[in-house]
Amino acid sequence: MQTLEKLTSRFWYQTPVSETDRPILGAVMGTDMTLMIDAGNSEDHARFFLEELQKSGVPAPSLVAITHWHWDHIFGLSALKIPSIASTKTKTKMEELVPFSWSDEAIDDRVQQGIEIEFCAEAIKKEFTEHRNISIKLPTITFHEKLEINLGGVTCILQHVGGDHANDSIIVYIKEEKILFLADCMYANMYAPKNNYTTDAALRLLDLVESFDAETYIFSHWKPATKEEFVNEAQLLRRVASLTKKCEGNLLAITEEYKVLVEREVKEDELETIQFFVNGYEQYN
Ligand SMILES: [Zn+2]
Repeated sequence: MQTLEKLTSRFWYQTPVSETDRPILGAVMGTDMTLMIDAGNSEDHARFFLEELQKSGVPAPSLVAITHWHWDHIFGLSALKIPSIASTKTKTKMEELVPFSWSDEAIDDRVQQGIEIEFCAEAIKKEFTEHRNISIKLPTITFHEKLEINLGGVTCILQHVGGDHANDSIIVYIKEEKILFLADCMYANMYAPKNNYTTDAALRLLDLVESFDAETYIFSHWKPATKEEFVNEAQLLRRVASLTKKCEGNLLAITEEYKVLVEREVKEDELETIQFFVNGYEQYN
């Protein structure tokens, strides 16, 4: 069950749902305005979030920021009667979705053509069982690299970071709360024949993300992670990226070297990360 949680006095979030791929939605409450982060995977999702905010006495959002173009972060936008903000890259990607039909046949057809992926196709069908009145609403305000919003007593910095998951990804840094809303930027590229990370993009992204002074890191399909959890995740990506380069994408060699480095058996999630880097190496080298 989804719940609305108060993380700090000025930041609230709604928990994710893995089955229908609903990501975390955030609300930053300033004295002048509330900023919503991501629009949700459907109009139902967006409306549910607004209802929950209202019940908790959080002033209704005046603006919504979109973190990247993936369906689960944007399909709720058409239910919101407020201006939306996105990077110019996100808007360009969203424009490509405007002509699409979302019937089962049309979605399956796009999976066949390699435009859509099976994982998202299944989640869309689960989220929209009754009717599928999906209309892509484009962002109102766009920016290139960086945008700062003062909500009254709290500042949000929207910064384009890109990365393997989606090259339009932005993060939202909630300065006074020391919260870094990463959304999906640290995840692998899923819109490819095999889920993958590439070494250069991963290392460049980590440099950018680590330049923010934060205590809490929001992973949209997981939870608000502590500094320690973030550092562990970042360290894993860094180590595997370096080993992938050194071992030229050889799965066994990377796994062996990683084992020596951590002085224990390799865990399942680490093996998955290694596999994703190997996939990236094989695809792009
Ligand atoms: Zn995504």
